[in-house]
Amino acid sequence: MAHAKAKVGIMGGTFDPIHVGHLVTAEAVRIEYKLDKVLFIPASNPPHKQESMVTPAIHRYIMTVMATYSNPHFFVSGIELERSGPSYTVDTVRGLIDCYGASTEFYFITGADAVKDLPSWQEIDQLLDLCYFVAATRPGCISYIDQVIKQFGVKGRRSIQRLATPELEISSTDIRERIKKGRSIKYIVPESVEDYIYKEGLYR
Ligand code: ATP
Ligand code: MG
Repeated sequence: MAHAKAKVGIMGGTFDPIHVGHLVTAEAVRIEYKLDKVLFIPASNPPHKQESMVTPAIHRYIMTVMATYSNPHFFVSGIELERSGPSYTVDTVRGLIDCYGASTEFYFITGADAVKDLPSWQEIDQLLDLCYFVAATRPGCISYIDQVIKQFGVKGRRSIQRLATPELEISSTDIRERIKKGRSIKYIVPESVEDYIYKEGLYR
């Protein structure tokens, strides 16, 4: 009897900090695409940015672990933190293919705003052969996705898919600003992440 191909979701991000928007989106895509698991992959600290602009990777990694641990299908991978220099998604996906074998299907999950930049990603043409992209619709971004799909022609229509997800207008930028202003972040991030942010004095 032939086994169905394993399907693995990839949720890449800075996760500075991880929030409910990331989690709800990943879970919606997991269920809709019947994914076996979703790997959350925190990006390494970008070497071109000043260190103060992005929180040290260790904090972002720990918050991502805490936010995802209660979901048996969610896992965190340090694959981009173990590499030095900038992480390109194409290298990450190649690393995952080495690890999981070529018979696994990968679904890279993004918010619609990230899809807008897709044409400028490193080796995007090869990347579209290596994984599917699932663009979760975020407020105000729908038209971008169609535009980008069209831009890649047949390959775009095959590899880039759209999924309407609950549209939560939440961003890490807004959370960092709320903390700076002393406003509540309750229910926007998991409780454990909220506790960790205050305990470590992040984003003040
Ligand atoms: P920042 O405000 O610092 O840019 P962010 O909230 O956009 O942070 P990222 O870590 O940059 O979070 O995003 C990781 C991925 O999650 C991206 O693909 C992004 O489009 C997606 N994403 C972020 N927020 C949401 C949301 N509220 N709903 C759906 N997807 C989201
Ligand atoms: Mg962002």
